[in-house]
Amino acid sequence: MNKERLYIFDTTLRDGEQTQGVDFSIDDKEKIALALDNLGVDYIEGGWPGANPTDTEFFQKKIKFKNSKLTAFGMTKRTGRSVNNDPGISALLDSNASSICLVGKSWDFHVDVALGISNEENLENISESAKHFIKEKKEFMFDAEHFFDGYKNNPKYALSCLKAAYVQGARWIVLCDTNGGTLPHEVSKIVSEVSKQIPGKYLGIHAHNDTGNAVANTLAAVLAGVRQVQGTINGLGERCGNANLMSLIPTFFLKKDFSNKFETNINPRDVKNLTQCSRLLDEILNRKPNQHLPYVGAAAFSHKGGLHVSAVQKDPKTYEHINPEEVGNTRNIVVSDQAGKSNIISRLKTIGVNIKENDPKIKKLLEEVKDREFIGYSYDGADASFELLARRIVGEIPRYISISEYDVSVKKNATGKIISTAKAQLEVDGEKIVCEGEGNGPVNALDNAIRNNIDRLAKYSKYLKDLKLVDYKVRILNTGTEAVTRVSIESTDAKGKNWFTIGVSTNIIDASFKALVDSLDYKLFKDNAPASS
Ligand SMILES: [Zn+2]
Repeated sequence: MNKERLYIFDTTLRDGEQTQGVDFSIDDKEKIALALDNLGVDYIEGGWPGANPTDTEFFQKKIKFKNSKLTAFGMTKRTGRSVNNDPGISALLDSNASSICLVGKSWDFHVDVALGISNEENLENISESAKHFIKEKKEFMFDAEHFFDGYKNNPKYALSCLKAAYVQGARWIVLCDTNGGTLPHEVSKIVSEVSKQIPGKYLGIHAHNDTGNAVANTLAAVLAGVRQVQGTINGLGERCGNANLMSLIPTFFLKKDFSNKFETNINPRDVKNLTQCSRLLDEILNRKPNQHLPYVGAAAFSHKGGLHVSAVQKDPKTYEHINPEEVGNTRNIVVSDQAGKSNIISRLKTIGVNIKENDPKIKKLLEEVKDREFIGYSYDGADASFELLARRIVGEIPRYISISEYDVSVKKNATGKIISTAKAQLEVDGEKIVCEGEGNGPVNALDNAIRNNIDRLAKYSKYLKDLKLVDYKVRILNTGTEAVTRVSIESTDAKGKNWFTIGVSTNIIDASFKALVDSLDYKLFKDNAPASS
């Protein structure tokens, strides 16, 4: 059977950037765009040239893409000006983008209240803008803002806005659920009606997630006829976000009702890069990845509890809807107090430790985990610390940097500023190195003390240069005997794969210190650093 082509349109760099707290540099934009191009999305909306200097400059970079078309975003022409005399329109032409996506109104309420113009004037703005870009040989798309709300209010007018662009030769008419309040059954119904007037192969969907249905609405729209799908990496977008392409793309590939019917420009083998693509965005945003994202989140294939784990070991299909490797994710067997020997064996296999099932070291490790959990450790979210513990018991982890002494102090100066200073004595190959640092808190100071002296750490400096602490969490626990502090640290490096370490102590600095040392050790281990002599 001939499959129908679905087109993927990414708007991370335009609509995603509308998000509070998100501000991409030109380099960030380039990194994200290249990842999307490698993945094979059809369109990358690069931004709004003319609206801000970063976007204008980004388009001027003329980055070469092998799969994707760079698309410039803008607005339909202003009322009372000719297209040739509208600076917004000229900036789009100057951007050299081959595809142009213009947003315009399709809800009469907005035409009246937001623009204060007549319905006819709005139609003219749409058709004149479309005509202009098509004459200039651009691939033209019309983003029909608030289309679903507009259609509910005045279907005839909403449709006439779409047609104003369509009859001029627009390649795509994108139906936008701008306020994100439309539900899947409404999308199905409205798209079916629209596609009687404009064929689905010219229609796109742009859904926002304000009811938690952006992905569902997009799938409903595809099933009802649209063939262009807009969204962002991780669903990044203002308010509750946009449709998440990291959920949509695997759905198109791995769910039969879609994969039997549709094909995209993405090579099936590149679907494995989705997890990496998702983490790359968080890395650029310096954000903690959402573990619970569908398909690509770190917890998407985590199993805890004896019953689930033993079933997953018999056949992963018992508790997994797909094989995690298909999207580049991994299965994660969570070790906890209730876990038995089978959990430990399975988790050892996941991290690649080969050990016989009856090896006494497994029992030793299980006991060690249980003892540690009793005093407040929790290896559920601390993969790297678990791996270090396991490999130490198996005898695979050499000694790297020894830290024999440290001294941390917190001071408030006359201006009220609180400064922490740290001094640590490190030892590499028998040589003692004293490191000092300052920070906004004791852990930051301790981290800076090591970081500032990385060049002096001889053979380890090159391994630790790109290590970064992403997140630091403290919990006070009441165990059986006393209050203890549990510190969790999330770290990352240039490869973009994050790891989690943990430290527990009655003293917060000591707990932090243990988690920090595990983070360093793990980095050195995974990068195959040599042992300290
Ligand atoms: Zn939007």
